[in-house]
Amino acid sequence: MARIAADQHKFDVATERDRSLRNWLIERLRIMPDGISIVHADHHGNFIRLPYVEGAARWDPRKEPWFTISIEDSDEAHLSITKDVFANDEQVITLSLPIINSSDGSNSGVLALNLDIDKSIDILNNAFPPMKSRTFVMTREGEMVLNPGYPIEPVKLKALAQLAREYRGNFSLDSHYYAYRSIASQSWLVVHEVEEKELNNLVWAQCINIFWGMLFTLVVLFFCWWATRAALNTIFMRIATSIRAGTVKPAAVEELIFEEIHSSQQRQEKIAHEALTDGLTGLKNRRAFDADAARFNGKPNTWLAMIDIDDFKTINDTWGHPVGDVVLKTIADLGLRLRGLENITLYRYGGEELAVLFDGISPEKAQSYLEKWRITVNTRNFRENKLKVSFSAGLSRMGGAALPEVIARADKLLYQAKKSGKNKVIAS
Ligand code: GH3
Ligand code: MG
Ligand code: MG
Repeated sequence: MARIAADQHKFDVATERDRSLRNWLIERLRIMPDGISIVHADHHGNFIRLPYVEGAARWDPRKEPWFTISIEDSDEAHLSITKDVFANDEQVITLSLPIINSSDGSNSGVLALNLDIDKSIDILNNAFPPMKSRTFVMTREGEMVLNPGYPIEPVKLKALAQLAREYRGNFSLDSHYYAYRSIASQSWLVVHEVEEKELNNLVWAQCINIFWGMLFTLVVLFFCWWATRAALNTIFMRIATSIRAGTVKPAAVEELIFEEIHSSQQRQEKIAHEALTDGLTGLKNRRAFDADAARFNGKPNTWLAMIDIDDFKTINDTWGHPVGDVVLKTIADLGLRLRGLENITLYRYGGEELAVLFDGISPEKAQSYLEKWRITVNTRNFRENKLKVSFSAGLSRMGGAALPEVIARADKLLYQAKKSGKNKVIAS
């Protein structure tokens, strides 16, 4: 501000009516929230003070300490505590700046700004850091300049000054933490005082936030790592094997990766399907039967048929197991083909035993389906000469009874069919 003032060549404090300088000063005073007055003085005792005070003409600024300090040495700004002679000698903080003429470097006077101590304390204490703390200004020797709204014992101030000399920037005393900064050519210290408890709380709160953040990041990273590893493992293994075997050129690797990613979903669906399907017959397996039967059981008009191939042991013994397998597969195929669009589901219950679930079908229809299937199987000509195949079946209503009971009933009817000569369907 002093430098700008020095640059205004037209300003001349000796001319008391220098309107442009007055306006310039009043503008500066207006933007200072704790400014009481502003003085522009030269070496000959001429000055302009704002606001203007009657009788000020007899006052000589050169006798004021802020003037002598500012004139004495460098072109630096100075802070000092002085008295405002025009306001009952009230204590003020004075910021004084030597006015150095920028063209020839000469010192042409002093610009002094008087600040209200109480307002300065308010401003200081309103500039809170992000935790409960107090701020004050003291000299390096331990004199209080601006208190934090209450006095601090001189003994304590001396101790703080001593510690400030020993430690640069920060130190602890009586379970309080102090951080300070030097101002006013290093002679004043702006000290922030925080209870160590407050500081610990803040540190803990921040640590907990960081901890949760890190934990969340770790979980996400771990999941990404796991998913990527699982996906890439298969791809890399296949690529490596293919390259080693020479079945794929490195140039085709990109294509392979693309294909691998897109086929992995289909593979999963296939695995799920295979888990519920019998490998030999292509029918649904026992696991699927247990799940479906439990679901069907509560519905009205649901029927269960248990089927057992007649004399299968003999077939195996006579024509061998592979033929036995063909017979089993053929029976399953015929059963599937004859089913039409009805809600009829076929299962390989175990060994050469099959099960059929009828959903919402009349017993007559269910029975006629089984009969048609039985006759088709029985009249089928196999490649093996004289190979005659038949099965027996028991058909029972499900009706919501416990599943083992329903199965036992169907088994009982199946047993009756076997007993009464086989190649028969008996319904309850
Ligand atoms: P029954 O008319 O009383 O049922 O006489 P069976 O000879 O069919 O007697 P049983 O039902 O006890 O015989 C089952 C035979 O089925 C025993 C087993 O070797 C054979 N078997 C079970 N599963 C398979 C299979 O997947 N393939 C073949 N080839 N044989 C099987
Ligand atoms: Mg059997
Ligand atoms: Mg049998």
